[in-house]
Amino acid sequence: ISRKLQQRAEQMIPGGVNSPVRAFRAVGGDAPFILRGQGSHIFDADGNEYIDYVGSWGPLILGHAPSKVIEAIMDAACNGTSFGASTPAEADLAEIVLSAFPHIQKVRFVSSGTEATMSAIRLARAYTKRKYIVKFEGCYHGHADALLVKAGSGIATLGIPGSAGVPEEFIQFTLALPFNDTDALEHAFKKYKHEIACVIVEPVVGNMGCVPAPGGYLAALRLITQREKSVLIFDEVMTGFRLAFGGAQELYGVVPDLTTMGKIIGGGLPVGAYGGPSEIMNLVAPLGPMYQAGTLSGNPLAMAAGLATLRHLREHKQEIYPRLDKLSGELVDGVAAAAKDAGVTLCHNRVGSMFTWFFTPGPVTDWDSAAKSDTESFGRFFRTMLDNGVYLPPSQFEAAFLGTAHTEEDIQRTIDVAKQAFASVHA
Ligand code: PMP
Repeated sequence: ISRKLQQRAEQMIPGGVNSPVRAFRAVGGDAPFILRGQGSHIFDADGNEYIDYVGSWGPLILGHAPSKVIEAIMDAACNGTSFGASTPAEADLAEIVLSAFPHIQKVRFVSSGTEATMSAIRLARAYTKRKYIVKFEGCYHGHADALLVKAGSGIATLGIPGSAGVPEEFIQFTLALPFNDTDALEHAFKKYKHEIACVIVEPVVGNMGCVPAPGGYLAALRLITQREKSVLIFDEVMTGFRLAFGGAQELYGVVPDLTTMGKIIGGGLPVGAYGGPSEIMNLVAPLGPMYQAGTLSGNPLAMAAGLATLRHLREHKQEIYPRLDKLSGELVDGVAAAAKDAGVTLCHNRVGSMFTWFFTPGPVTDWDSAAKSDTESFGRFFRTMLDNGVYLPPSQFEAAFLGTAHTEEDIQRTIDVAKQAFASVHA
């Protein structure tokens, strides 16, 4: 049935998908069409059930259809879906975001991570009156023109360097540097003295697979940008409220100038956000000259879903984050041990509930080392996992996620399936 649904969709939608990362180009086979999700499991049109480690690519830290979130959305929907005028829930959500990220004095809600990073960069340029931006190879910050350079994620999966339709002139101010290389950054700041508006980074990269920055790298970025009076942007679209309630910046104790968020703050509905100190945020219209707007920004449904999710996380953070870390550890180590037993070469990266098994001896510390992975073997592993009811991200270059709904049984079952899957890697 999924194949039929795919063929129908392909008639009308490019590739049959509304985001390329959903296509199974890199792993082969048919992508299941999902009818419903409950807790840690999803159910497809062919009657199959899967343990889900994609979680809608990160937002669903509370699992599928958590009752608190669904009720909040339904309550909000009964009162109308959008007004294009302010509602109280926007400040309620802002209050929680400010409490989680102490450096943020003001926050603006948008509808996607792409909008969040695109706007943060515009703001950094407005604030510094400089043109150049620095991003790192393998980091994905959404699909804005200026950021589609060596951008990991779906672009890496498809093996293309950037995107057609982005004129060279549009990326002439984007400097893409190797991740984890402070010398390269120092060199750029020397070459473009007083010209670099901002440095944007995923503080733990999820978009070349999970790649954490080694101790000291984020602090070095902070020191260098401070010295150069350049804006440091942590793109916490993936890591915010996932690695800790206060994101990677809480975990590592490094404070950026601007933070971008998405995914979890929308509780499964489309939300993004960017925030920072008032001194910078006051440049945003209508207070200042940096223009950014959105018809559905801060709409009541999205705010309600985000609020219900963040309130639950805040109330239970003492239990939730340690448990996610423990369960994820058991899963990642268990699967790695199964690989070792089967003689399959594998390394793994994990920070809290974000992780990737790379089919390479490793270590994977940047894009070049991630790219050494054997994607054929990954594809075979992925398909056997899928055939046996485990739904992983369909690419070697994406992070997998655990949520609060996952159980010990899910983990054990996944490790058991992985044992079979590693046998298929050799086949
Ligand atoms: N930044 C990061 C770190 C992301 O992981 C993503 C999406 N995976 C984005 C930005 C873009 O977010 P969206 O897909 O909501 O536009």
